[in-house]
Parts: sequence; structure tokens; C-alpha cells
Amino acid sequence: MSTEKAPILPASNFIRAIIDKDLAEHKFAQKRWAGSPGDARHQAQGPVDFAKIRTRFPPEPNGYLHIGHAKSIFLNFGLARDYEGVCHLRFDDTNPEKESQEYVDSISDMVAWLGFGWDNPTPNGQHEHNLYYASDYFDVMYQAAEALIQHGHAYVDAQTAEEMRINRGTLTEPGVASPYRDRSIEENLTLFRAMRDGKHADGSMVLRAKIDMASPNINMRDPAIYRIRRAHHHNTGDKWCIYPMYTFAHPIEDALEQITHSICTLEFEDQRPFYDWLMARLVEAGLLANPVPYQYEFARLNLTYVVLSKRKLIQLVEEKHVTGWDDPRLPTLAGARRRGYTPAGFKLFTDRIGVSKADSWIDYSILEDCMREVLNDSAPRKIGVLDPVKLIIDNYPEDQAEDCFAPNHPQHPEMGKRVVKLSKTLWIEREDFMETPSKGYFRLFPGNTVRLRYGYVVKCLGCDKDDAGNVIAVHCEYLPDTKSGTPGADSIKVKGNIHWVSAAHAYSADIRMYDRLFVAEHPGSGERDFLDDINPNSVTTITAQLELSAQTAQPGEHFQFERHGYFVADLKDSLVDKPVFNRTVTLKDTWQK
Ligand code: ATP
Ligand code: MG
Repeated sequence: MSTEKAPILPASNFIRAIIDKDLAEHKFAQKRWAGSPGDARHQAQGPVDFAKIRTRFPPEPNGYLHIGHAKSIFLNFGLARDYEGVCHLRFDDTNPEKESQEYVDSISDMVAWLGFGWDNPTPNGQHEHNLYYASDYFDVMYQAAEALIQHGHAYVDAQTAEEMRINRGTLTEPGVASPYRDRSIEENLTLFRAMRDGKHADGSMVLRAKIDMASPNINMRDPAIYRIRRAHHHNTGDKWCIYPMYTFAHPIEDALEQITHSICTLEFEDQRPFYDWLMARLVEAGLLANPVPYQYEFARLNLTYVVLSKRKLIQLVEEKHVTGWDDPRLPTLAGARRRGYTPAGFKLFTDRIGVSKADSWIDYSILEDCMREVLNDSAPRKIGVLDPVKLIIDNYPEDQAEDCFAPNHPQHPEMGKRVVKLSKTLWIEREDFMETPSKGYFRLFPGNTVRLRYGYVVKCLGCDKDDAGNVIAVHCEYLPDTKSGTPGADSIKVKGNIHWVSAAHAYSADIRMYDRLFVAEHPGSGERDFLDDINPNSVTTITAQLELSAQTAQPGEHFQFERHGYFVADLKDSLVDKPVFNRTVTLKDTWQK
């Protein structure tokens, strides 16, 4: 019988099946790359268990992470966690113009918020610090490019971008070879070095892989691998005026970090032949050793009622359709955190939607349901009156107040109870009174009795109105022997049960009632501009009356306001003892068609 510890794994998927097979075959039981910067680090930090899987999450620091990235984070970091492997956080920063430290910081922050880290223990009791920058490998990438040239696998092309585009051919026609394709190795080396040394203008030439201009896969028709761009880089400064193309850089990054499973979204499927081609050439050139990493593609998350393209998110922020990258309506992770969405909710969501190879749409309500489910279990209850009107208990003494006891969580008695004060004047919801009740209305109307939740049964007497006929106060009398918690009192039958807050013991709070940012299932579908699908009522700020204990809520604390939904004390706008709340999600789905 095997004594090996069998990890408990969540629902399987095709990637797990691949990993299971690779591990069973001991595919990674040897070191694969000598002389890489990664290797030097490993030597300094002690032996590394190469039998483990290594994945990576490789964001480009050119924007904030969004909900789609959460799927990739839970997949990559989640696999590493479940298989006791390692996942690297790698900034794929090969495109200097759009990248910045602000993005680097926010990305690290969000990965950590979701519960993942990049300091991994090693067998000798030390730590591997698995945070990487693609730009740290620029020297090796340059070396790899020269190696390709030296083996006759790359050439410097001086066609214009337009000529290259035309000569690339189409899906039905092969490409046309560049007149520069057959330059000698010497000439290519000299030119490439001159490119590096700043002797040529931006865009005047590129280094291309020499593969097959007639390939049915257009990505294999001599893709560009290095370009000239005089741009300041957030990490390497002005050291380089040539930068590797993403498709060339990425496989090298994976190989240097000894990634075993390079997991990406389906649009890179057509790039896989180039990934494999490059690996094979660099093994031939002696720069890499087998086994090299392999790329596996999965379907990206497509979510209704949001936009997940960085370009559109940037537009929403820059044109001020929202208040910033962390606007609680945005599908960025920074926005979701402020909205009150939780890492546990995202975990449940990513488990529930699974990982597959088929593109599909996930309805936004599934994400909301997951947030509800997690918060229903974990969020303490509070009482909040969101549309307040006064309820005056005519037969209650003017300056008296008494304690009522409300459970912090109906399903978790271990979370205890708290005191809420009851007094003569209370706040109740405006909709909990009707002067002339409609059919089936069981709440307050003249002559009817209801229970004030956790308090007394009261009988409604009538209301006061202003000159315009608006109800300004409701009157009632309480039945003294009916207080909740006293023997026999809770078995008194009334149909209505309403919540309330004592006016003298209330915290008057600003609450942002967030709704979806877009009204259309597919914002901007067809000819439409996605901006035209913005929900004009995506936020309404109200002043609510909350039980006093809500006043000491810490930024980021979650609550269920009974009968209303889940709310969070805002991380940014809350002041000490003056929290502002955001509605995370309603109690029930209000968007069902
Ligand atoms: P772009 O706007 O260029 O498409 P991106 O969202 O792909 O940007 P990256 O920084 O390249 O941004 O993404 C980092 C990782 O997150 C990649 O591995 C990518 O495959 C993954 N990812 C991005 N969007 C999604 C999504 N909607 N679902 C799942 N994974 C995603
Ligand atoms: Mg991308």
C-alpha cells in the first residue's frame, strides 16, 4: 500500500488530469536549465524540489486586475496549492510604454488579497521569493535572440510595417518572403547589434524568426521577435532601446523559471506552435534543456453585464464614468473589494464555474449568488432602516429606554447576541406602514398588530401627515407582556414582523446603494457603444438610520442589514466612528428576467 499523502482535490478538470499524468510519470524530476538567473537564485537559497509543479500568473502591469484575472489567479495559484507546488507571480513587462509601478503595486496587492503569496518554503527550511519581472531577463532574451541568429533561425527585416503586413499573406494565401530573409548570419548579427546599440530609428527594422512564410498558421510566418523602441522602462530605465515581443519573451520567461505548466487563455492556442518551436530551437542551441515547459489553454471568463477589457476599463476611469480604479461599481478586483465582494466569494465562484476549453458566458447573477452565499454564512446581522419614517409608541414612557437582544447570526448562536435599545420613538421603513392596506399586506395599518422584531407586539393606531398628505409619523401602542424573550411571548401569533431602530440610539449613515454598472447583458454588442449601456442609476446615496453599534464598524467589515442585503463599511471614505456603507449585494436577485 502506498504511504504517499493523497491531496484532497476539488472537482477535476482537464488541466488537473494533465498534471496527474505528468506527476505519475515523474516528468519534472530533473533540473532543466543551467545558468539562468533563476538558477542562481535557487543555488543561493538551497535545493529546490523539482518534482513539484510550477505554475505562474503573468499579468502585464498595464492596468488593474479584473474579475477575469481572478479566474486565472485561482487556477494557477490554486493548482500550486492543491498539488503542493509553487506558483510564481510574474510581471510580464515587455511593453514599456503602457506599464507602470502603480499597476505593479495594485496587482501584487490584489493577488495577496485573494489569499496567495509568492514566498514559498523550500525543503531546507528557507524561502523562495517567487516574484519575477520579465524585464529582469532582457539580457537572456537578447542572448537567445543572438543564438537564433547564429543558428540561422532569425533575420533582421527592414521592410516597412505596411509591407510586412501585406507580405504576411492571408488565411487563404501564403505569405511572401521578405527581400531581407536570406541575409547572412554575419550581416544579421551586425545589424541586430546595431539595433541594440541605438544605431537605427524606432520602427526601421525588426528581428524576425525564420520559420515558414507558407505556414497555414499565420503566427508561424516569420513572427517579429524584437523591435526598436526608445521608451523608458519602469524597471530597466533607458538601458534598452530594443524590446522583445510578447510571444518571444513569454516562453523564455517560463523556461527560465522552470515552469512546468504554462496556463493561458484560448486566444493563445494559435501561438502554441511558436512556443514549442522556440523551445526546441533554444534546446538545440544549448540554452535550454529538456523537459521544457508546455502551454495549456483554457476558456477565459466572459461575464454578462460587465466589460473585462483593459482598454474599456481604462476608458471608464479616464473619462470619469466612474470615480477611479477602485470604484465599487467597476469589475476590477480593487473595485470588487471596496464593493464588499470577498476572496471566499471569488473562490466559490471560480470553483463553481470550473475550467474548460469551451468559451461560454457566465451570468453575472452567479457571481452575485456566490457573494451572497458566503456573506450569508459569515456576515453578522445589523438593523438598518433605509427609508425612515417615525413610529411613536404612544403608551411608552417619554424618557425610558430598555434593552432588547438581537442574535448576531440566526444560524450561528455562538456568535452571540447584542443589545439594541428600544424607546418611545423609533425609525421604521416607510413601506412598513400603509394607511389603507392592499390585499395581503400584513404590516402596520390602523388596527393591525405586528411584532417589532426582538421587541414588543404593537397595535397600529394611525398616522400624522403634513399639508401635502405625506405620512410624517405613525402611531401605535405596545402590549406590555409581549416582549420577545420573555416566557410565552414569542409564541404570540402576528403576521407582520418589522425591524426598527430607536431614534435616540441611531447612527445616521450615508449608504451607497450600488447596482450594476451596465443595463445590457452584453454592453456595446453589435454597433452599440458600450458607454451607451451604462446604467444611469448604478448608484444612489441615501441617509439611513442604523442601530448604534454600526457606528464602530471598521472599514472593510461586512454586515447583513436585515431584510435588505449585504453591506460593507467603505475602505476609503469611512472616518473613525463615521463609517460610510456600500451595498455589496441585495438579499435576493432583483435582475431575474
Ligand atoms: P488584455 O486586455 O491585453 O487582454 P489581459 O486581461 O490578458 O489583457 P494580462 O495581464 O495579460 O491581461 O493577463 C494576465 C493573465 O490573466 C493572463 O494569463 C490571462 O490569460 C489571464 N486572464 C486575463 N483575462 C482573463 C479572463 N477574462 N479570464 C481568465 N483569465 C484571464
Ligand atoms: Mg493578455
